[in-house]
Amino acid sequence: MSEFSLIEKYFKPLQGKLQYVDVGIGDDCAVVSVPSGFELAMSMDTLVEGIHFFPDVNPEDLGYKALAVNLSDLAAMGAMPKWFTLSVTLPEENEAWLQSFCSGMQDLIKQYPISLIGGDTTRGPLSITIQVHGMMREGQRLLRSTAKVGDKIFVSGLLGDAGLALNAKMQKIALSPEALASVESRLLRPEPRLSLGRLLLASASSMIDLSDGLIGDLGHLAKASGVAAEIFCEKLPLSKYMQAHVDSTGDFTLPLSAGDDYELCFTVPPTSVQTCRCDVKDQAVAITEVGRIVAGSGVTCLLNGEEVEQGRGYQHF
Ligand code: ADP
Ligand code: MG
Repeated sequence: MSEFSLIEKYFKPLQGKLQYVDVGIGDDCAVVSVPSGFELAMSMDTLVEGIHFFPDVNPEDLGYKALAVNLSDLAAMGAMPKWFTLSVTLPEENEAWLQSFCSGMQDLIKQYPISLIGGDTTRGPLSITIQVHGMMREGQRLLRSTAKVGDKIFVSGLLGDAGLALNAKMQKIALSPEALASVESRLLRPEPRLSLGRLLLASASSMIDLSDGLIGDLGHLAKASGVAAEIFCEKLPLSKYMQAHVDSTGDFTLPLSAGDDYELCFTVPPTSVQTCRCDVKDQAVAITEVGRIVAGSGVTCLLNGEEVEQGRGYQHF
């Protein structure tokens, strides 16, 4: 099959319902028009075999995750997802693989108003790059740099399960098959918190998504805001499996530092906490207060008021 037939057969169906798109897949560039009063938000993430996924990964999970992690960045700004472009480098032409990879992306395209509008297809070591484009009303966005001393720190969902799954798969931690099945879905199928992110525009003061672990990512937010953060370990939201691991080892490293949670971490001024809780009460995912912003720099972890030493988040270099 030629490159162009592959694009036609597998990628074009991911265009979904085109909105504000004048030119989609098929020309040299895609052309979109952003309605007046809105701004464009853009972000890009690459997944490389051996770094971000195992060589034997199910292509459907890979397609899902490549798009999900990009959507998580839009969620972290409070942006609405609209379009994405996709660069795929494949070692060989494998239609079964492509079919499955695209079906993983379709799972998200069915749930969110996002269309594939262009990309690139090349041969080489397996790697996937996606750039997402979102829209937001002018000036309505949540940055990392706007947390203030006194703000409360919240996270969505549960922390550490993806890291627990990864460690179990690498045989560093023993888990029952039932526990592994439960936490593995969090590693393979993270849910981008798009509607939560938009609801938080009204009450949060700053936000980041958790791709590289709470300490590391909250550290970026604190640094950008010129403040320090304190995390209360006993308040971290944990699944029963993560809780059992923490109880047996006394070690909070996974929920504090493991990557791949793709939850939102955000700050809320004390006067907006009630509004915030009320705004998000009907969401499928819960939010939990896990710390506070204080003067200074860096991130400190406390367990029942006592400081605990913890490692840094995942870093590529
Ligand atoms: P060019 O030679 O101008 O770079 P290509 O031959 O790479 O164009 O691609 C032809 C068309 O197919 C373009 O519109 C491009 O955006 C689209 N396309 C190529 N690969 C992909 C892909 N993986 N996903 C979506 N669209 C793609
Ligand atoms: Mg061209």
